[in-house]
Amino acid sequence: MDKTSDEQPGANPGDDESRRFLFEEADIRGETVRLMRAFRSITTIHQYAPGVRRMLGEILAAAVLLRSTLKFEGKLVLQARSGGQIPLLMAECNTAGDVRGIARGAATATATRFDQLLGDGQLAITIDPLKGRRYQGIVPLSGDSLAHSLDGYFAQSEQLGTRIWLASDGHRAGGLLLQQLPPQLARDAEQRARQWEHACTLAATVEPRELLELPARELAHRLYHQDSLRLFPGTPLRFHCSCSRERTRNALSALGSEEVQSLLQEMGVITMDCEFCNQQYRFAREDLQDILGPTLH
Ligand SMILES: [Zn+2]
Repeated sequence: MDKTSDEQPGANPGDDESRRFLFEEADIRGETVRLMRAFRSITTIHQYAPGVRRMLGEILAAAVLLRSTLKFEGKLVLQARSGGQIPLLMAECNTAGDVRGIARGAATATATRFDQLLGDGQLAITIDPLKGRRYQGIVPLSGDSLAHSLDGYFAQSEQLGTRIWLASDGHRAGGLLLQQLPPQLARDAEQRARQWEHACTLAATVEPRELLELPARELAHRLYHQDSLRLFPGTPLRFHCSCSRERTRNALSALGSEEVQSLLQEMGVITMDCEFCNQQYRFAREDLQDILGPTLH
């Protein structure tokens, strides 16, 4: 499997991108995302049931939207661990617009409802900057959706109002994020609160189908045709896995020489598959000399 999704003929511009917009008269920004080919590439690698695919689509869209809130280079990782039919659901997006994701242990999942698939669990939000410290926040998987759980995270971690809306039909994914900006245009607290409520009330009227189908400009117009908005150029998104031979080797190294030695004895050649992209890495004894240390006779 190719580690990167190829450009396919017939793809529409805007199908795989996130786009930022600003309210001209309120301190609020928005971000929209639509994932088509990038999502399809991921669901081609693994065969998931429809309900699992929808959850995966939503968490991928969420990772893209949360990544847009970062002010530095790096990646954003979402990990949902649950007692439901999906033990681990994970999505990543980096500043370059590379996305990847996986539902682990969900081969027998048949449910379609959020609480059956991801009930009784926790959502970890990890911000991993290229330079500097990682930050992780954890919130319960609550309510009836991933978006609801994330709204809980924003309420506890962000000083400024932040809300998210997500949708996926198992083939496509889409979403919308709104975030208050520090006071600049409106300093009066009541006016700020009114503007924020106005933006959120209109966003709440969005239909899942609209998040999946409407290009950013049309979606912004549909929701906010009475407000003046500034729409920024889109960030292209693609499926791309960050795994490499070097990283896989480092993971082996972390096991320690004894463990690697016994794996070699057992298997002859160590093969490791990347669970995100199915790329296989093979290591023979001679590839691992420095991990194994000097040979004892
Ligand atoms: Zn990979």
